[in-house]
Amino acid sequence: MNKKTPLDILKKHFSFSSFRAGQEEIIRSVLSGKDTLGVMPTGSGKSLCYQIPALMLPGITLIISPLIALMKDQVDALQKLGIAAAFLNSSLRPAQTEERLSALRRGQYKLLYVAPERFRVASFMKLIHQLDVSLLAVDEAHCISQWGHDFRPSYLKIKDIVRQVGRPPVVALTATATKVVQKDIIKQLRMEKANIIVKGFDRPNLKFFVAELDEEEQKQRELVRIINSVKGAGIVYVATKKAVSEISGLLNKNGLKSTGYHGGMDKKQRVEAQNTWLRGEHPIIVATNAFGMGIDKAALRFVIHYNMPGSVEAYYQEAGRAGRDSKTSYCVLLYTYRDHIIQDYLIENNFPPEYVLQEIYNFLFSLEQKNILLTYKQIGEACGSSEFQVASAIKLFERYHILKRMDKTALSYEVFFMKDLPAALKEVARAPMQKKLLDWFAESTVNVFSMEETLKRLQISSDQFNNTIRQLVGRGILNYTPPFRGRGIEITSTFVDWEKTPIDLEEYKRQEQLQRERLAIMEEYVKTKTCRRKYLLGYFGEKYSKANCGGCDICLNWHSPEEGQGIKTSADSLQKMLACVYEFDGLFGVTTIASILKGVKEDRFANWGADMSESFGILKKMKKEKITRLIYAAISKGYLERSSGKYPVLEITSEGIDKLA
Ligand code: ADP
Ligand code: MG
Repeated sequence: MNKKTPLDILKKHFSFSSFRAGQEEIIRSVLSGKDTLGVMPTGSGKSLCYQIPALMLPGITLIISPLIALMKDQVDALQKLGIAAAFLNSSLRPAQTEERLSALRRGQYKLLYVAPERFRVASFMKLIHQLDVSLLAVDEAHCISQWGHDFRPSYLKIKDIVRQVGRPPVVALTATATKVVQKDIIKQLRMEKANIIVKGFDRPNLKFFVAELDEEEQKQRELVRIINSVKGAGIVYVATKKAVSEISGLLNKNGLKSTGYHGGMDKKQRVEAQNTWLRGEHPIIVATNAFGMGIDKAALRFVIHYNMPGSVEAYYQEAGRAGRDSKTSYCVLLYTYRDHIIQDYLIENNFPPEYVLQEIYNFLFSLEQKNILLTYKQIGEACGSSEFQVASAIKLFERYHILKRMDKTALSYEVFFMKDLPAALKEVARAPMQKKLLDWFAESTVNVFSMEETLKRLQISSDQFNNTIRQLVGRGILNYTPPFRGRGIEITSTFVDWEKTPIDLEEYKRQEQLQRERLAIMEEYVKTKTCRRKYLLGYFGEKYSKANCGGCDICLNWHSPEEGQGIKTSADSLQKMLACVYEFDGLFGVTTIASILKGVKEDRFANWGADMSESFGILKKMKKEKITRLIYAAISKGYLERSSGKYPVLEITSEGIDKLA
């Protein structure tokens, strides 16, 4: 009989003296044979939640993990502790794999780590039936959800595996699952009766403040004021590259030493900026969201968002970089309505409308060449769309294998004939190199060439090429544009009519909608009149039971009752808005309700008869942004509720209905 408790195992095998928040609860749930979903932050110790049960259960524990590199580290660490663990993945040589498979057959391991791709390997699948699997652990479980940020199609296969190994209990673990993703994990893994344990997201030493302001100047003043009063090192997040230099300039002008950082800087500059900041020469870094991953600077006193991010996940992750040393630190979000506009603009660029996609698609195929060496800006100019839209379209096309982005190193150059070809050839008749090159250009139907291909085909060195080109340009024969610095595109499919495109446009629209809803929830955080901490934790599904957190602007009662309502409206427009939600109860989200009230005709309304409704256009004199704010105000007053789920919809509450009477 094994009378050892999880704590005994923790002490004996791992030499830790006590459990961290959540660990024991998850372990007990697993040991009781229940499916369990554990959501805890990175670094909180999720591995032990399956490693300890693995040592207590009779059979083997199969761990599905997405990252080959991490797998090896984990197994090495376990082996050092004398625990029988192994992994199987594509990095092993066949002989090594064979060895491990036979050790598995002999039952030599307690833990086996595999990547989900393993389930496509026949020899492994044959073996798997012979294993006595006591527990199946799914690490980084958010990878199974399309709503998560890291979807991996191969994770979808896991549910079949669970069945094939005799349906043992399943423990799924992740650090980043919103409530929507949690539900999806449970659905995808068929673990309907699972215990869901969400723990450890609260960061008691962080204070959360939001200031909703009317103008940019107020923001700037507020920013300088806050940094002056907080002191210490910190990050100021801004939305755009342009804002990086503006705000960094503003701070420096006010005697606050700062350095800028964004993804458009070259690698050397970025490393330099980061190091200046890490060394503390400039205590403040003004950055876009390109900054921060893997940054390990514990003593950060503040993270100020000068612009609102697009989702609460992003916000909490960025803000959470403050105060890793457990000392009091400040997370401040400065908001003006412009932030809404910026985010809206970003979504529009991330999700160009279908006709823009089609335009770009047709344009690329009209070029009738496989390798396209045009910058996104040039493509955009040809198609009447923005550079960003082109970038998004190309990423989308790439996902559906319509094209491939080439390596940045695939250099190309452009030539134009300035002279009549026969005349030019005659002129260089006695210069073999020049003639060779001209012949090569003349044969081609395009005027953009790959450097690599040129050198290979003509069997010349790049110095020879450059010299020859210089001579041809000198003679006035050619106009030459040196290699293209962008990233070329390679068409990898044959043209089909747009109507038959493999792109799942339904899915594309769903993703856009999801992005919009994420943004709406982020804005709800700005507008909420309840405890910020409670709101943030609630978003991840963690309950916060204290009535007053003592560490946010709401709980500290920094707002007068009138302030920050953001809008003064007559009771009349409030009633009209509520009546509209009442009519379409549970059908539409914030954006759509606002469009109906404004009287914006959109196809999708037709289906629901919205344009026939009395509410349609009933607030058409109001700006749509004001209507949106009116809706948010009603949510925070409790007249309306937003559902959770993939597409949060508005529902009227009984308090709201009272208002209608
Ligand atoms: P996660 O998967 O949640 O990101 P890990 O399981 O990789 O976190 O654990 C992070 C670190 O915390 C590891 O170094 C681990 O040894 C340590 N750790 C986990 N549980 C405990 C504990 N109860 N006491 C002390 N250290 C722990
Ligand atoms: Mg982990």
